[in-house]
Parts: sequence; structure tokens; C-alpha cells
Amino acid sequence: MSKQSVTVVGLGPMGQAMVRAFLAAGHQVTVWNRTAARAEELVAEGARRADTIGEALAANELVILSLTDYDAMYTVLGPAAEALAGRVLVNLSSDTPEKAREAARWAARHGARHLTGGVQSPPSGIGKPESATFYSGPRDAFEAHAATLGVLTGTDYRGEDPGLAALYYQIQMDVFWTAMLSYLHALAVADANGISAQEFLPYATSTVASLPGFLEFYAPRIDKGEHAGDVDKLAMGVASVDHVLHTTKDSGVDTSLPAAVRDVFRRGLAAGHAGDSFTSLIEVFKKEAA
Ligand code: NDP
Repeated sequence: MSKQSVTVVGLGPMGQAMVRAFLAAGHQVTVWNRTAARAEELVAEGARRADTIGEALAANELVILSLTDYDAMYTVLGPAAEALAGRVLVNLSSDTPEKAREAARWAARHGARHLTGGVQSPPSGIGKPESATFYSGPRDAFEAHAATLGVLTGTDYRGEDPGLAALYYQIQMDVFWTAMLSYLHALAVADANGISAQEFLPYATSTVASLPGFLEFYAPRIDKGEHAGDVDKLAMGVASVDHVLHTTKDSGVDTSLPAAVRDVFRRGLAAGHAGDSFTSLIEVFKKEAA
């Protein structure tokens, strides 16, 4: 059976890696990009260039979008909206869950189906099954194209709600950026005290490697709303965070990050959680959102 042919719209580093992965797996690929010159090398490698976005949409049922964000999708597809009927748009551009839901409604109004994707890999991970992408949207559309999408990365279907793939992606990013920022802050304190990133590396690695154990221990308790202070107490946590803050200040380093952390801990104390686990701080976050 011949491999399904695909259209890729958007040829940034990600889109280019995707086109190459499809070509390497024997798929015919039609490409379109706002800056046409970015298609040249790919055409030399075997991709077909569409001269217009309408032509790119007409070429294949399966259309992969790899654009900076969802606003770019409207800019690109808007003028060719009449060519959307019958297409499956697999939107691998990053954006918010709400933008993904809105895009799914917009696509449906034009007779297209929208699958949201959240790619958890840099361009170098594209074409590798050990990389992963969250998908959400109509299950039958996902299942019909899962094998082709699997050429790009492993696939992880999260459900029908078009916002889900974006949501899973964003909560992963929430962990990633906050954790990496704390690492950079620790390095600034280390540097102020003559310790290099290389010297700190084994210790930072060991701390990060200890985190999965904490997550596994606390996740079921958090799901049950249990914040027993049997293993740790928030009052102890506040003292520890205070020590980090003062070490930062004594080192002449910017205190905004540990000060923000201490502020959250203090709000937990004020809410009466001193004797509970630090996980009770999730209640502080939930209240903030209400
Ligand atoms: P780039 O921002 O480099 O590529 C963006 C693409 O979008 C280009 O083809 C660009 O066209 C096009 N584009 C942007 N704005 C417009 C517009 N207004 N009209 C028409 N075309 C537009 O991104 P990447 O390739 O790095 O990433 C693509 C998506 O994948 C992003 O959403 C990114 O967040 C996500 N992602 C990226 C990762 C990475 O490591 N790079 C990792 C995981 C996800 P032109 O060439 O003409 O400028």
C-alpha cells in the first residue's frame, strides 16, 4: 500500500524537520511557506512546492501546520478558506487550549476537522519514535492518521476536547520553565560564591533526579485532597525558603524568585496550613485562580 501523502504548511526549523521525516519514510510531501525560499532545499530533497496556499490545501486531505502560533494560521489559511472543506488540519503550532478550541470551531465552520498537537521535542527529535506529541480532537480523525503522524514522533492521544493537547503541553511547560528558572537562580548564587555550573552539575542533577520520587509519593495524596503534615510541615518549609532567600541576599544576587516563593509559602501559613504538608500550597494557587 502506498504511503499517505501529506501537506506541510510552515517551514521553520520544526516544519523542515517534519518534511524531512516524511520524505525519509517514503511519503509524498507538498510544502508551502510564506517565505518561499525556505522551501528550496526541501524541494531539492524531493518535496513538491505549492505555489499558493490554496494549491497546498487542495493537494492532500492531511495538512500539517507548523506555524509560530494560531494567529499565523488565520493569516495563512484565511484567504484560502474555501479550500478547507474535507481537510484534516493537524495543528502542531504551540498556543493556548482556548485558542485550540476556537480554531477547531473555525475549521468546522469551513468543513475541515482540526486535530491539536503539542510537540514535546525540538527539531532534532522529529522522526524519532521515542519523542512524543500530545494530540486531541476527533478520535476517528486521529485514528485514521495516527500511523502517518507516528512518522514524526510517538503519538499520545489525550481525548476529544481540542484544548487537551495544548493543555497537557502547557502544564509540562509550566514545570519546565519554573524548574529551569530555579536552576539558573541557583547557578547565579553558586557563581557569586565562586562555584561554576560544571562544579554544581552533579549536585543539581542529583536533586532533579530525586524529584520523581516526590511526585510519585505526593500525587495520590494531592488527588485525594490530603495534605497531612506527617512527612513535612509547611512551617518547616517556610524556614527553609527563608534560608534560601537570605543566602541569595548575602550573595548579592537578585531575590525576586525566592521572594515570590516565600510569598506563596507565607500565604499558606496565613491560610492556616502551618501544620500541613507544603503540598497544601496547591489550595493557595486554586484560590488565586477563583
Ligand atoms: P518558527 O517560529 O521558526 O517558524 C514559524 C513558521 O511560521 C515559519 O514558516 C514562518 O514563516 C511562519 N509564520 C509565522 N508567522 C507567520 C505569519 N504571520 N504568516 C505566515 N507565516 C507565518 O517556529 P518553529 O519551526 O521553531 O516552530 C513551529 C511551532 O512549533 C511553534 O509553534 C513552536 O512553538 C513549536 N515548537 C517548536 C519547538 C522548537 O524547538 N523549535 C519545540 C516544540 C514546539 P516564514 O518562514 O515566512 O517566517
